[in-house]
Amino acid sequence: MKYILAIDQGTTSTRAHIYDQKGECVCGYQLEFPQIYPKPGWVEHSPADIWNSVCSVMSLAADGAGLSAADIAAVGITNQRETTVVWDRRTGEPVYNAIVWQCRRTADYCKKLVRDGFSERIYNKTGLVPDAYFSATKIKWILDNAEGARERAERGELCFGTVDTYLLFRLSKGKIFATDYTNAARTMLFNIHTLEWDKELLRLFDIPPCMLPQVFPSSHDFGEIAEGPFKGVHVHSVVGDQQGSLFGQGCFEAGDIKNTYGTGCFLLMNTGDGPVKSENGLVTTLGATASGKPCYVLEGSVFVGGAVVQWLRDGVGLIKRASASERAAMRAKDSGGVYVVPAFTGLGAPYWDANARGTITGITRGTTKNQIIRASLEGIAYQVYDVVKAMERDAGINITRLSVDGGASANKFLMQFQSDILRAEVVRTRHGESTVLGAAFLAGISAGIWSKSDVLAMLKGGERRVFSPKMEEGERLSLLAGWEKAVQKSRL
Ligand code: ADP
Repeated sequence: MKYILAIDQGTTSTRAHIYDQKGECVCGYQLEFPQIYPKPGWVEHSPADIWNSVCSVMSLAADGAGLSAADIAAVGITNQRETTVVWDRRTGEPVYNAIVWQCRRTADYCKKLVRDGFSERIYNKTGLVPDAYFSATKIKWILDNAEGARERAERGELCFGTVDTYLLFRLSKGKIFATDYTNAARTMLFNIHTLEWDKELLRLFDIPPCMLPQVFPSSHDFGEIAEGPFKGVHVHSVVGDQQGSLFGQGCFEAGDIKNTYGTGCFLLMNTGDGPVKSENGLVTTLGATASGKPCYVLEGSVFVGGAVVQWLRDGVGLIKRASASERAAMRAKDSGGVYVVPAFTGLGAPYWDANARGTITGITRGTTKNQIIRASLEGIAYQVYDVVKAMERDAGINITRLSVDGGASANKFLMQFQSDILRAEVVRTRHGESTVLGAAFLAGISAGIWSKSDVLAMLKGGERRVFSPKMEEGERLSLLAGWEKAVQKSRL
């Protein structure tokens, strides 16, 4: 029996899971690591903390499963996307902390790019809208602000990488300097049509091309681990976390779509061999496949998903635990005309209104606490509905099934309401695991352990729960009309 080790280096924690040849999880370990907030709106990680957390979960997994390098056929890596590390090519020493995807320090510079008319050119090449989220402006910030960094970069002494690249570099003791298409596509430097780093964008952001890693398919033999309990094992996959989840949910065909219900919600739709240009504020990016060629993906996100449940718990104290929201919502027979639009930080796709704010409408003397809780959960589902409809319009595809994962997908009320409001099946596979499972599948495929059809068969055989639409059409349309009005009010 051979095993696959998959590492998920996330924003707040790092996990390592070991899977057997049947795709069953033998063991899983998770460790949190510190978040650094140097100023309001700024978020950093220490690359050493990231690296140490990866070493620790790998050792825990090796000990926990009682396995050594000889038992492991392949290692897979999935990671928080866009987070930017710049380090010395010779010593591996970072020149600055990792700047995390959430960090807004380059927001003003991005606004200037939009004002100066660069949006269309950037979108046409990268599929992205100029935003501080993506790596390009973070690299520029490090080169402009870390002492001596620009001169060193120009002399060829520095490397840039997203977290996957940094981990590959450390795991191989500097031998591997590479990334995959899904991570490269989030840097705002990669042309998703030619599948190359874009010279013109590199000039625009003043980034020396010699800093950039080589780009490979997600399912690929990246090379050998040079130290630790898995010394000698090859890394056979690298994939950004959301694309890992898309693959781990078995969304292999054009029109397949998944949503992750975490703090925010991340929706990705596989659009197959061709990029779909969005008219509705979505971004176009690359997805992982079992073959060498990446697929194209439409992506949209909801800023406040599970976070509205955190607000119910910590902000207004209506519930004690996140899971209590399910029972409370079910106790209310309906939301009684109440809508909660959780636009705490504005609204994302398809509205893109930074000035919108959280709004509760339709409150009467008879409104109960449970109805407000219920309307909050419904507010998550309506926002997801809005993004799905934008994807349908852009891709010209009618969605009949949504695959789901993430913390809030545990909520049965939310999943049933989502299915009702979308009039589509909502399929919850082994929730919480799809991201790391996706990395394991891609690694197993590259190592020749599994084929794409083996993976589909394992997913079909695995535990899953299907929510089917039950709501009467008249009620659905009237609820949606009410939501539309509530969104308008949040934007006034
Ligand atoms: P992240 O990866 O963004 O940290 P997770 O996938 O761990 O997120 O999900 C955590 C989010 O899910 C939190 O915002 C939490 O409020 C929400 N959540 C967790 N359990 C439930 C539940 N049973 N019902 C509704 N929301 C939940």
